[in-house]
Amino acid sequence: MTIKAGLVGLGKIARDQHLPAIEKTGGIDLIAVASRNAQGEGVNNYPDLSAMLASEPDMDAVILCQPPQVRYQAARQAIMAGKHVFLEKPPGATVSEVEALIALAKDKGVTLYASWHSRYAAAVAQAKAWIAPRAIERIAIQWREDVRHWHPGQPWIWEAGGFGVFDPGINALSILTEIVPEPVTLLSASLEVPANKDAPIGAALQMATASGAPVEAVFDWRQTGPQTWDIAVEAGGGSLLLSEGGNTLRLDGEVQLKAPDEEYPAMYRRFVGLVADKAIDADIAPLRLVADAFLCGRHCPTTAFED
Ligand code: NAP
Repeated sequence: MTIKAGLVGLGKIARDQHLPAIEKTGGIDLIAVASRNAQGEGVNNYPDLSAMLASEPDMDAVILCQPPQVRYQAARQAIMAGKHVFLEKPPGATVSEVEALIALAKDKGVTLYASWHSRYAAAVAQAKAWIAPRAIERIAIQWREDVRHWHPGQPWIWEAGGFGVFDPGINALSILTEIVPEPVTLLSASLEVPANKDAPIGAALQMATASGAPVEAVFDWRQTGPQTWDIAVEAGGGSLLLSEGGNTLRLDGEVQLKAPDEEYPAMYRRFVGLVADKAIDADIAPLRLVADAFLCGRHCPTTAFED
């Protein structure tokens, strides 16, 4: 069976990644787009999800690419209509929303896929395999990027529920919670919030593995020049460095793997498989760490930031 899919929210990630990835993936076709401002090419277009659901009774799945603040209601509506749902990351603005969606998807017997694209970066599986037999000594994450370059014209990202610097930072946490074979808990955090914004521009997190190894993370949106998306792991007397957001792997300083980004095609292959089994894949571990940072973190006001 080929999945007939409709996509909601024709913004940056939908255009940059979802449309080309769907095109490349067997077993799924895009038949419709719901957008308030744009038109998809070669598909039926609707102003919103309600109109798309009403006019596309044969649609099997809905892909949600809007900001997290509006994802829950849309996901709920799609699941209630019996559709399989693909959620962009983060899967919701709150943990309680995502838990409610998991319960609803189970009840309705549909697939719910909380996608974490960074987990599909080329070197993540190899990093996980290297860490598995070793005792972790420490982990240090540096996720520093230029918000003006990566998120221009996205007011939602600075609003409550938009996550601020945790929008990219949660990608690091999605890799962390994939490659570490035991629970990671948050010990403390500090969040730098510009005077004119609701969400942080910088954050520092102190975490620990269940065995007690320290895990530190620094997220910063003020980095100009070279960008940094690194996770360094010391384990069993050796060192591992995942860089380029998980697409390059160094072991003891030697490059082992450097591959282009193929994260979204891999996610669509996963989605096709999940729908065939009507299965749910919705890990909230990365979102839980972000929620814990907001719960426990010290809020440190900082100077206004114009993006
Ligand atoms: P974006 O360019 O702002 O696009 C989001 C789209 O959602 C908008 O174009 C709009 O689509 C719709 N939308 C915006 N505000 C809305 C609102 N208040 N209510 C309903 N719909 C709204 O954002 P994006 O970069 O694509 O990010 C969307 C999601 O993808 C976020 O959760 C983000 O974390 C995730 N993501 C982004 C990237 C990236 O590099 N940008 C990478 C990975 C994941 P219409 O005009 O079509 O209605």
